[in-house]
Amino acid sequence: MSAVIGSGIVRIVNRDPWQARGACRRYGRPDLWYPEKNTPPQQILEAREVCVGCTVRSECLQYGMDHPEESGIWGGLTERERTGLRSGRSDKAFAQCNECSKEFVKRGGWHRYCSDECRKTNELRRGREYAARVRAKRSKDGAA
Ligand code: SF4
Ligand SMILES: [Zn+2]
Repeated sequence: MSAVIGSGIVRIVNRDPWQARGACRRYGRPDLWYPEKNTPPQQILEAREVCVGCTVRSECLQYGMDHPEESGIWGGLTERERTGLRSGRSDKAFAQCNECSKEFVKRGGWHRYCSDECRKTNELRRGREYAARVRAKRSKDGAA
């Protein structure tokens, strides 16, 4: 449930104690969690970036999944995305970094790594591993 209070929309917190711990409550832009038809995608991404670090994201997403009548973003997913998840589609909003395992918000070409640093670290490590395999094979072939 939500209510319009002052200039922004805020979620009423008394029903579920976890809601009081939501990172969105301290962000100062409650409107970000209520995108409308013409809302730029950047705004949704901004809300997701807050959600991805939120300590109660799983409770929030579960709540959003259990309450299809709720509007707005819950657990980082829009109404449409939650509807998709209910009908078995996978969540395409977040991914786990191949290097550091941190969950991150997918944007643009970023689907495997949370940052450029993780991408470079992963590439360097794979390069070193490849070189070690080549060296090991060479020394094995040389010994034969
Ligand atoms: S997951 Fe997102 S919407 Fe839910 S409480 Fe946390 S910051 Fe708010
Ligand atoms: Zn990472």
